[in-house]
Amino acid sequence: MARLARKTVRELTPYQSARRLGGNGDIWLNANESPFDNEYNISLARLNRYSECQPPELINAYADYANVKPEQVLTSRGADEGIELLIRAFCEPNQDSILYCPPTYGMYAISSETYDVNAKVVPLTSKWQLDLEAISQNLDGVKIVFVCSPNNPTGNLLARKDIEALLDMTANSALVVVDEAYIDFCLEESASDLLSSYPNLVILRTLSKAFALAGLRCGFTIANSDIIDVLLKVIAPYPVPVPVTEIAVQALSEAGRARTKFQVLDISANRAYLQAGLSMLDGVTVFDGYGNYLLVKFPNADQLFKALWDNGIILRRSPIENCIRISVGNRDECEKTLAFIRSQLEQQ
Ligand SMILES: *Cc1c(COP(=O)(O)O)cnc(C)c1O
Repeated sequence: MARLARKTVRELTPYQSARRLGGNGDIWLNANESPFDNEYNISLARLNRYSECQPPELINAYADYANVKPEQVLTSRGADEGIELLIRAFCEPNQDSILYCPPTYGMYAISSETYDVNAKVVPLTSKWQLDLEAISQNLDGVKIVFVCSPNNPTGNLLARKDIEALLDMTANSALVVVDEAYIDFCLEESASDLLSSYPNLVILRTLSKAFALAGLRCGFTIANSDIIDVLLKVIAPYPVPVPVTEIAVQALSEAGRARTKFQVLDISANRAYLQAGLSMLDGVTVFDGYGNYLLVKFPNADQLFKALWDNGIILRRSPIENCIRISVGNRDECEKTLAFIRSQLEQQ
């Protein structure tokens, strides 16, 4: 029956998520998950009723956290669904294009491909910043430009003046989507204050990373209300399960936010530990990272990656030459990973 699938889908290579890639490990630092497993109370009452499409208590809680108005917030099954909704709502298949700047998050390419929307690819500069000149020459037919800051997998922030220049450049022609999946690790760097000046700005957020709720599947799209209203036309009628709202509201309560802040500090300290330790090793380059992960260049990444994998330390091989992305785990995981890498490099 597989041959009955759409041609595009038959030819599609799905996203190589950490879960799909498998592995047998004791230390999982390959999906930028949080090491913290927090507790929540859920009541299983009223599950006979459909959930609200956009539960007001959840929308209000996130709007308060993000310092925006409730009508500027849409919630969905992870930020990934936000990417998909934007493409579905704004891009005409086989006609319009998106534009993205690798090395970056893989879902922009995969979601556009799934909906037969063309993708223009303008690589980041050698410093992993936006190549504004090349972008400006490739905007024909582009409806959405996806950028990511802090960028996954490189870890760096995009220069704010470049994001503003991009917003100006596309003011009447395209949305600029700033993927801020990791912004909770450096909240002061958010572009959210630009919403009032730029009607074409869209920001993606998630509870999967700093809020330690990857398994909850809860993300947010922040934009001016006319964009949110368009997305509400294409979203599923009941996208947010009742227990998801219950847990997310607790995570976004005053106590939940305080806990996240504390955990962000803890993870940032572990990131600094890992960065300092790895930088001391011969031939190793650690790139500055603003999220809960580090991109690291090794003399022989393939061999090292496999040795780690075989010993139950599961990291993520990046498509960037000789680079491995390491999620920042708890201190014990960071110590074991650093010690293993040190011993491996001494043997090589
Ligand atoms: C993890 C991640 C997402 C997806 O987040 P979900 O809310 O779990 O779907 C989006 N963008 C980037 C850059 C990510 O790393």
